[in-house]
Amino acid sequence: MHPTINHMIQLQELLLARDEQKAAGLDQHLEQLESSIHGLNHELAEPFKTQFGKLSQRDRNVIVPIADNTCSACRMALPISLVQLVRMAKEVHACPSCARYLYVPADPVRNTSRGPKRFEVQKPGIARFSAPALMIPNLTSKDKVGVIRELVSALHEGGFVDQSESLIEHAMNRESLLSTAVDHGLAFPHVRGVEGGGLTLSVGVHRKGIHFNGPKGRMSKIFFFMVIPTAASSFYLKLLAGLTETFMIKDARDALMEAKSPEDLWKVLTKLTRKAVK
Ligand SMILES: [Zn+2]
Repeated sequence: MHPTINHMIQLQELLLARDEQKAAGLDQHLEQLESSIHGLNHELAEPFKTQFGKLSQRDRNVIVPIADNTCSACRMALPISLVQLVRMAKEVHACPSCARYLYVPADPVRNTSRGPKRFEVQKPGIARFSAPALMIPNLTSKDKVGVIRELVSALHEGGFVDQSESLIEHAMNRESLLSTAVDHGLAFPHVRGVEGGGLTLSVGVHRKGIHFNGPKGRMSKIFFFMVIPTAASSFYLKLLAGLTETFMIKDARDALMEAKSPEDLWKVLTKLTRKAVK
């Protein structure tokens, strides 16, 4: 990968992590994030620095992956010659339509097109991007990677994703940047830039709790795992805010914790999030 693209991806990741912290109402890492963002931005050469600033005012997708020879943000079909140049990575290239910078991921993760018809799109709320088969009322793993593995397995067994191992690795990489655990025992592990399909959510509850590097060393008990295509980035932040708002209330968390079967968990989740997730 071109070093400038790599640099800008790091910067973009930090900006996204900062958005996530804000959406989840957390401020404990903000200072550290601000200083890392400032540092990376300062080191970025012109004209990239100015252009990055301009693009990131529009939305956070400044550097976007090419998927199936199209720009994954604006969906423009790209000339094959341009895709080849981007793959060679000798220079930095931008999408001729939306001007976002392009890269070819070394190890892309895809939503699968086989498997169930994706969700009841005509319905409002959670049913648009999740399903009873993706509910795990009783996570049993004893560590972070185990919990992520269980959440990914539900997606895989349901036929929503393939390449489980790659998905787990991407999710763990994101955790190493900054834990996705927030207050109230909630955590939002996720993988972005997934090709194809829409945002997909699996939900797991761990009765004892897991050390997920949460705030103040507290255990995490309720996990929302999401695979997020580039085009769903801003919706993801709204969803994160809606779920945080719903489950900062103890009664709502207790109701999730008490669900015994995937069907129960699904019922409780859809009912409780009716207002906050549209
Ligand atoms: Zn584009």
